[in-house]
Amino acid sequence: EPIIEFKHVSKTYQNGTLGLKDINLSIPKGQFLVVVGLSGAGKSTLMRTINRMHDISTGDIRVDGESIVHLKGKELRGLRRSIGMIFQNFNLVKRSSVQRNVLSGRVGYYSTWKSTLGLFSKEDKQKAIEALQRVGLGEKLYSRADELSGGQQQRVAIARAFMQDPKIVLADEPIASLDPLTTESVMDDLKRLNEEFHITVIVNLHSVSLAKRFADRIIGLRDGELVYDEPISKVTEKD
Ligand code: ADP
Ligand code: ADP
Repeated sequence: EPIIEFKHVSKTYQNGTLGLKDINLSIPKGQFLVVVGLSGAGKSTLMRTINRMHDISTGDIRVDGESIVHLKGKELRGLRRSIGMIFQNFNLVKRSSVQRNVLSGRVGYYSTWKSTLGLFSKEDKQKAIEALQRVGLGEKLYSRADELSGGQQQRVAIARAFMQDPKIVLADEPIASLDPLTTESVMDDLKRLNEEFHITVIVNLHSVSLAKRFADRIIGLRDGELVYDEPISKVTEKD
């Protein structure tokens, strides 16, 4: 049973721009899927339909066997809580501590405005420390988010996603603003989440060579259409 399934999914934005065109896609649980394509190809749109940050125009999307297109209220929040998001610009609350940012994963939306530390249990706080240790940032608990380097901020975002106990992690060009060395560590952290916890990970990337090193499967989008779909074993040198 696939964890995510797209059936004839199309998305046209309100201004008439085509986002996705007749996407059919089945993603097995635990897969590390990389989505490649030029800027504007629809990668971000595809990703954001999975947690309903964007609604689709036609077709159906199933997550864990259940259609998500009509979810509302509590069910929609439940879906979003089960999906961790990693953004290109990290999306941390810059002036808050690393600890607060990571703990905000617990409540399922990435804002610390409600996250008075007292609301979190000892267990949550311990889990936040462990999540940070996992990404090599155990000693940064009390640092302000904006005092960290870009790579460190992205690893805080990964720890935050981990705090959610997610079934799925969606990473939208997570390395776009990072240097090559930092890129490695961020991709390694995502890969570890995937392998150790069987979390299904979807990553949007520009670089096919990077995709080849980490993905179980690579799909390609062009102008909103799925134009390439191969397991890593079938990806060739010239792809
Ligand atoms: P990618 O992530 O591959 O760069 P996107 O999914 O962001 O691509 O964009 C796919 C297409 O949808 C592009 O033509 C883009 O301009 C358009 N698009 C994205 N977001 C919106 C929006 N909110 N309103 C209108 N068009 C949009
Ligand atoms: P903004 O205030 O510009 O919407 P935010 O930093 O609050 O920016 O969030 C950026 C986007 O990410 C928003 O569209 C928000 O809904 C979305 N978002 C934040 N946290 C989550 C989450 N846990 N799951 C899904 N989407 C999220």
